[in-house]
This record gives sequence, C-alpha cells and structure tokens, in this order.
Amino acid sequence: MTLTRHLPVATCIGCGARSHEGQCDDGCTDLPLDLVDVDDLVAIATRAEALEDRVATLRETVCALADDAPTDWTALKERARAAVQIAVPEAPEPDVIEGWGCPQCGRVDAPQPCLGICVRRPGLVADVAEYREYAEHAQRMAEIDRTLMAFAHVVAGVRPRPGREQQTLESLRSRARELLEQTAGVG
Ligand SMILES: [Zn+2]
Ligand SMILES: [Zn+2]
Repeated sequence: MTLTRHLPVATCIGCGARSHEGQCDDGCTDLPLDLVDVDDLVAIATRAEALEDRVATLRETVCALADDAPTDWTALKERARAAVQIAVPEAPEPDVIEGWGCPQCGRVDAPQPCLGICVRRPGLVADVAEYREYAEHAQRMAEIDRTLMAFAHVVAGVRPRPGREQQTLESLRSRARELLEQTAGVG
C-alpha cells in the first residue's frame, strides 16, 4: 500500500510517536504504513536536484573539451574547478516509521514507548515508497557524478609538459568523448 499524499501528524519530540486523529463515516480501513518525515523527503529531493545540476555543469565542461575548437587551457581549468565546487548535500538517513493508519481519512497511529508525557509538534509524513523513488534517482545521478567529477579533477589539475600540450589535449579529448557517450541521456 502506497500513500499518494502527505499526511499531517503530531510528532512527540521525546519518543517520536506519530499520530493523527481521523474517522471515516463508513468505518476506517486500517493498513500497515511505512512512513518517513517529509523533511527527509525534501532533503533527498534537494540532493537529487543538486546532483542533476552538477552533472549538467560537468557535462558542459566535458563538452567544451570534446569540441574541436582551439583549447584555452586556463579557461578550461577554471571551468572544471568551478564545476567540482558545486555543493551537493549529503543523503539524509531517515528513520522509517512503522505504524497503522487509514489512507482515506488520514488517521495515523505509530506509537512509541514514552517515558514522560508526550510533547507533540505538528509535522508531515509521506510513504517510504516516495522516499525510495527519490533515493534511487539520487543514487543513479551520484554514480554518473562520481565519474564526471573524477575527470573534472584531472582536467582542473592538468599541467601539460612544454611541447606535450597537443598530446595531453588529444588524450583528454578522447576521454571526454567517451564520457559524453557514457552519460548521454541522463538526468
Ligand atoms: Zn478512515
Ligand atoms: Zn512521547
């Protein structure tokens, strides 16, 4: 069972219990729910988006190198350096909240043993399946990102020996073309 919307809950800041009152007129159909906080969902979506941006910028840099136009080393290295400096937030480590609830009216009950009196604050939860979709996408982007980042680091630090500029360029250029093929159609 996958929830198709985000449900409001009250979360205990002490024990982490989540609950939300609800009652269907014709009786609730309670189902087991695996939930994550929407904050974690936002964090993984933000990471996926940042990875997409960095991959796009890295690919542009690789494209510039693969191009046959005369190469301006200084500009190319600066471009590679700027690309590798684009920040990407780490993946969150969400707690999966196991509970029961009624997807129709939004009733949620995910109790926890609490030592004191529960202190609740409002929050939102989403189905863990939605989180996993973003996480898988972020994972795919991260793999492409790793390959492109490694190459961009090489480009950013390259110092062709005098007289060997052309050879260095040719070898980087052929690697750039390989990478463009490998990473075509991603994003
Ligand atoms: Zn209900
Ligand atoms: Zn509590």
